[in-house]
Amino acid sequence: MVSRVIPVDPFDLVIFGGTGDLARRKILPGLYRRYCAGQMPEEARIIGAARTEMDSAGYREMVSEAISEFGGKDACDNLDAFLAMLDYVAIDARGETGWAELQQMMAGKDRIEVYYFSVAPGLFGDLAERLQQWGMAGEDSRIVVEKPFGRDLASARALNATLATYFKEQQIYRIDHYLGKETVQNLMAVRFGNMLFEPLWNRQYVDHIQITVAETVGVGGRGEYYDKSGAMRDMVQNHLMQLLCLIAMEPPARFDPDAVRDEKLKVIRALDPVLPHHLVRGQYEAEEGNEEEAPSYRDAVDNPRSRTESFVALKAHISNWRWHGTPFYLRTGKRMVARSSEITVVFKDTPHSIFAEDAGRHRNVLSIRLQPNEGITLGVTIKEPGPGGMRLVDVPLDMTFAEALGPDGGDQVDAYERLIMDVIRGNQTLFMRDDEVEAAWAWTDPIIQGWEARNDVPKPYDSGSTGPTDAGEMMRRDGREWRKVSP
Ligand code: NAP
Repeated sequence: MVSRVIPVDPFDLVIFGGTGDLARRKILPGLYRRYCAGQMPEEARIIGAARTEMDSAGYREMVSEAISEFGGKDACDNLDAFLAMLDYVAIDARGETGWAELQQMMAGKDRIEVYYFSVAPGLFGDLAERLQQWGMAGEDSRIVVEKPFGRDLASARALNATLATYFKEQQIYRIDHYLGKETVQNLMAVRFGNMLFEPLWNRQYVDHIQITVAETVGVGGRGEYYDKSGAMRDMVQNHLMQLLCLIAMEPPARFDPDAVRDEKLKVIRALDPVLPHHLVRGQYEAEEGNEEEAPSYRDAVDNPRSRTESFVALKAHISNWRWHGTPFYLRTGKRMVARSSEITVVFKDTPHSIFAEDAGRHRNVLSIRLQPNEGITLGVTIKEPGPGGMRLVDVPLDMTFAEALGPDGGDQVDAYERLIMDVIRGNQTLFMRDDEVEAAWAWTDPIIQGWEARNDVPKPYDSGSTGPTDAGEMMRRDGREWRKVSP
């Protein structure tokens, strides 16, 4: 199946933080892949911007190395032509250096202007203000804002207010790369493009839903940041919440940004507060025998008394007609047994079994894998083949995109690539709106405040496990079990 590539209009993309980790690992290699795919017009310009002094030639060299190191080099044989689109400006978000030069570079061009804030969140406000001061916050310009977007409701509100001073909401693209994943969009296609699922997508037919985002890595070099954040802020408030919204929302009237985001917002606002016994926090221990390379969370963040969680499991309820009484179990953690992100819809038992007790009984399970191997599997009950009588087995109807969609499906477009192209197209559907972010924090804040007030100590869990035993216990109390975390 050949995917259609529609080139975007000519644009100038300024990457503040153009020398940073995210720019080198994701943004720039992703742009090169889009260039190779024929999606970027030849007139497009990419301007790296950071404090480090270097000229455009030096920047091109850095980007060339980044593309070699982080993937994409083989996307096509045209790296030099791509590098020719790059420029660099040494600029200080908090000072005067470089702004006049950038203004000059951007002047007099009638094309889309995108400013990507790939810098520490403390600089988002400074950049927005400077862009306005230097006349670069025109009606048609767009800003892309990285996560984290605030660390609680108050800070998110303050940041929204600051950005709103200089840019209209339609110009602000708050990025959550989970929303750029192929499967996440496919979730909407599967739900709203088929007659099959939507009639069953409610409390009457769905027993429960699980969302798991498991990582095998620890905090790595992000220790200092992570220890002030934790899994609730770093993963649940944004990524898991967004997935929950897409799985639970009502069908929007149209696939347009505000119609989709209105429905997502309604889900967040309908979430009940989470009860303390529906919450499990964990912190990983060192890997036995490999303490040097895989230290405990506390050693990794160099804070022996840290009470920050590297794992969260919780049970959420949505108070509306569709979902009343249907639990949503969310789980995320670091140093878990496998890297796996999956949404699972577990349907109820058939109301009555016509088969003998020992024939076996299986529930339909729809699982949507985000990583690795993006794809969708539906577990269907059939008769076990052979002469053994009527025995039932569960077989997967597997739609692994790489297999189902051929080479183009297999060569998945990275989430960042897709989202950057959406910014250039001016499509905000997959970006979070101000009220959505605030509503997510309004739900998350009391959970974190409760832990702080109770002086909650996270439960230790083994590296390479599925998290603290309490998470399994929470499920067992409900007569359910977590899906296996498998790669
Ligand atoms: P990073 O590696 O520390 O890079 C920061 C960038 O900002 C560098 O290019 C730095 O270059 C520049 N910078 C710092 N101070 C500046 C100033 N005053 N004026 C202009 N530029 C300045 O950080 P990162 O990992 O790329 O992360 C960037 C943003 O993306 C953060 O908000 C982060 O939370 C978010 N994010 C990152 C990842 C990831 O995988 N890395 C994932 C999700 C979200 P100079 O020092 O030369 O100025």
